[in-house]
Amino acid sequence: MKILILNAGSSSLKYQLMDMDGEKILAKGMVDRIGIDGSTIRQTAGDKVFKLKEPVPNHTDAIHLMLKALTDPEKGAMKSMDEISAFGHRVVNGGERFTDSILVTDEVKETIREYFVLAPLHNPPNLMGIEACQEAMPDTPNVAVFDTSFHQTMPKVSFMYGVPQEYYKRLKLRRYGFHGTSHRYVSKRVCEFLGIPVEGSRIITCHLGNGSSLTAVKDGKSIDTSMGLTPLEGVLMGTRSGNLDPAIVQYIANSDNMTVNEVIDMCNKKSGLIGISGISSDMRDIDAAAEQGDENAILAQDMLAHSIRKYIGAYAAVMGGVDVIVFTAGIGENNAHIRTKIMRGFEYLGAKLDLEKNKTREEAVISTDDSKVKICVIPTNEELVIARDTLAIIQG
Ligand code: AMP
Repeated sequence: MKILILNAGSSSLKYQLMDMDGEKILAKGMVDRIGIDGSTIRQTAGDKVFKLKEPVPNHTDAIHLMLKALTDPEKGAMKSMDEISAFGHRVVNGGERFTDSILVTDEVKETIREYFVLAPLHNPPNLMGIEACQEAMPDTPNVAVFDTSFHQTMPKVSFMYGVPQEYYKRLKLRRYGFHGTSHRYVSKRVCEFLGIPVEGSRIITCHLGNGSSLTAVKDGKSIDTSMGLTPLEGVLMGTRSGNLDPAIVQYIANSDNMTVNEVIDMCNKKSGLIGISGISSDMRDIDAAAEQGDENAILAQDMLAHSIRKYIGAYAAVMGGVDVIVFTAGIGENNAHIRTKIMRGFEYLGAKLDLEKNKTREEAVISTDDSKVKICVIPTNEELVIARDTLAIIQG
């Protein structure tokens, strides 16, 4: 059975075709620059590469182009689009309503639309992706998998902000958390990998990529997470500031005659690693500059590590200890140097990194044999979670 997994952004559409018999990836691709000049599609299916540059004015055209690429007689991955049994969509914010993945109905679409206000950059294109699939293949089921669902187990003490409760009731203002599909996958996978029961486990998952978040996972459930109402809160990221004193927004707005929206935009797009280093939002560029002795690059590395260390300490406190610390995503999986900076001096907590084992980029334990806390690298696989959820839902 074939399932197509989609991640629709405002100007891009990433997709992956999976054969669920053996969970094999048949094709992967991306339509880029939707609605902008110079749209392209690039798809790989085994060693076959499909590339095309043609105008893609909207998401419906992007879906048609993707289906054309997938069924291309020479470079495609299937004969007919009827081979697709279901579409699985990443949707960023499912609010409080969606505690799990769900079959898309008109009512589900209406609720996703209601949450546009909570995720104005993400939910609208996510819904456009769903509607474009429905238009192209009206009889094929669509499943929505939400970034926020995994965090719906957080207790009120974690998800409420210390502002008048009126805002929670009236504006749904609360911590939602993101990267839930990734935190869910790696926290479950690490228990299988270590052969430990989920029940009773205290795990800190560190999803460190261009966007980063940490989650405290107790007994398999998210009980606190670093991202908040939006993905701006938490640790230092590629272009996002992470935590700030909120009065900073007012201070900059007043000093530089900017609107609140403009200041928040700066915090989202020009801050974090790029803002501190002045070099790049990509950790590889920062590392290269730091090796040359660039002080701002070193400061960016250190601030990133410092902000993550504070959350590890906090989540150990929240859970009354920690058994496993997991690193995942682009930086978490690949960057041994940053993992070393993050984990230094955690012996008091019983967590000791093994510098040799830490050289891995694959699924591995990277703590010393006598470390009470296991430190692990677990490559994330959000597409697989979306595909598995989609299959489970269409099979009832
Ligand atoms: P992500 O958002 O998960 O794709 O992660 C992006 C971040 O991970 C960037 O800062 C990259 O520098 C880093 N990254 C991704 N892949 C690698 C790699 N193979 N080696 C080192 N860093 C990587």
